[in-house]
This record gives sequence, structure tokens and C-alpha cells, in this order.
Amino acid sequence: MARGPFDTLVDAARFGFDAADHKPLLEAWQALSLADIRSDLAERLIAAGIDEGGDEARFLLNHVLAPASLAQALADPALFSWQQAERLAALSWRRLQRVPLSQVLGSQPFWTLDLAVTADVLTPRADTETLVEAVLSEAGVDAARLVDLGTGSGAILLALLSERPGWNGLGVDLSDSALIVASGNAERCGLANRARFLQGRWGAGLADASADILVSNPPYIVADVLAGLAPEVRDHEPALALDGGADGLDAYREIIRDLPRLLVPGGLFALEIGYDQGAAVSALAQASGLVGIAVKADLAGHDRVVIGRRSGGDR
Ligand code: GLN
Repeated sequence: MARGPFDTLVDAARFGFDAADHKPLLEAWQALSLADIRSDLAERLIAAGIDEGGDEARFLLNHVLAPASLAQALADPALFSWQQAERLAALSWRRLQRVPLSQVLGSQPFWTLDLAVTADVLTPRADTETLVEAVLSEAGVDAARLVDLGTGSGAILLALLSERPGWNGLGVDLSDSALIVASGNAERCGLANRARFLQGRWGAGLADASADILVSNPPYIVADVLAGLAPEVRDHEPALALDGGADGLDAYREIIRDLPRLLVPGGLFALEIGYDQGAAVSALAQASGLVGIAVKADLAGHDRVVIGRRSGGDR
């Protein structure tokens, strides 16, 4: 059964584009079988510069077909409705404009969690799980106050809280709209009772010694490099979360200068870094009087995290 114009308008408003945009896609698919739609979509994605077009066509199809799977719908065409075809066209059209898949689907897996993602936050990256692992292996399990500066979607904060029931977390972000996403994710993950959020610039609004553990994935891309990144990142992710200034280190200078004040004696910090920033960020930490500084690599073998402590305390 064809959908009325009202439904189409609702979708259009929700996705922020003109309902006419995805119509040609829907028309092209009208006479095709589900298998042919799948290959057509894969080809269009690849032609748009998305190398994993085949996989992404499958993700998009599974998304609109849920709770049925693509495999089930291929075997039973009745499981693929006109309404789902229209939704597929709407989502595919956005992806063909190089909107990140996470933003098109509205969520992204990170650690053991499934997090809501919008254009207001950086999509959680698998590389960032290196930071979560580093903190879990360095920190004890005792009650701790965890602070995440530039929390974005809340990914790091919530992953750590999910592993450490005795910890409480504070996520800080300059962006109010990011904080809406982060606090929604705290609810979504059942962690809202241990996660608070605060609008502010890095640690500026925090009291002395307010963190037992401080983590951050600040913007670290060299401003000039940003323009050469994939359109998904360059055009659709928040520059606030990516742009690290002329040498990529602006945010580290600001955060690291404040770390001895923010951490309790012996308190742990972990900062995500770009693959070539290990030496520079370690030097900033050293200059700030921090101790036990080490660089950890991600699964690809690239330097990804600088970790260390404020001196003092019993460890
Ligand atoms: N790793 C991210 C990227 O390469 C950058 C994250 C950041 O600047 N904190 O897109």
C-alpha cells in the first residue's frame, strides 16, 4: 500500500531534507526485487566514494527490515514493505550525501554499549577503546570520581562507568547540544544515576582536586589537515571535536596545564592522542609536573593514549 504524502513529510522533517530528494531512488527501486535493490544500493554507495558500499547496503537493509533480517526478507518478499522501501530510500539518500553511517542510523556501538549519535557529537571510534582499556588496567576498582573533559556522546565516561559500579562520573562539554546527547546516552545505558553533566570549557568550572581519574579525547587534528579528511568527518562531524589548532596541540596545552589542579594527589589521567603526538603530549605532561607518563598504542600499533598521574598519594 502506498503511503500518503503526510508520512513522507514527517520523514522529511525528521531528516532535515526535502521529501523530493529521495524520490528518484524510490522510483528506481520500484520495479526491482529486494536482491536487485541491494546490489543497486551497493553500486550507488561505491560510486559515491564509499568503499565498503556492499557492507553498508547490508547494514542499511537490516536496519529498515528489523526485526526481520535481510536473509529472511530475501527468502520471503512479504517481509519488505513499501514503507520500509521508502525509509530505505530516505536513509540511503543521506548516506549517499556522505553523512556518516552512525548519524544515518542514529547510533553506534562502542565498547559494550550502543550509543545514540547525532551531528552534534563525534562518532565514537574503535580506537578510543584503547583509552578505556588503559584506564581500566591502571585504575583500581575502588570508589572514584571520574571526570571526562569534552565528553561528546559520553562514550568514554559511560564505557568506564559500565565497567566500574563504584565509580561516579562527570562529563564536561562546551557544547550544550552534545550534553543533551550524552545525558540521553546515560539514560539509554542505565547509568544516569552515576553520571552528571556540566557545560563548560575543559576543567575551568571544576573545583581543585575534583577528579580521582581524568580522561579526555580532545580535538587533535591539525587545522590544515582537517580539510583533507573524508567528507563524513570534514562536513558532518563537529569541528569543535576535531580541530586542534595550528599544530593540533591547542586543547592539550589547556587541559594539561590544569591537570595538577584538577587531580587529587596520585590521581590518574589518560588522554587520547593522534598517532604522531606521543612525544609532544608527553613533554607537555612532564612540563606540568605529572609523573609516570607512558604512551599506549592502539590495535593498529599507532600511539593512541598518553597516561600518567599527579605525584603524591599512596601510589
Ligand atoms: N580520531 C579522530 C579522527 O581521526 C579524531 C578525534 C579527535 O580529534 N579527538 O577522525
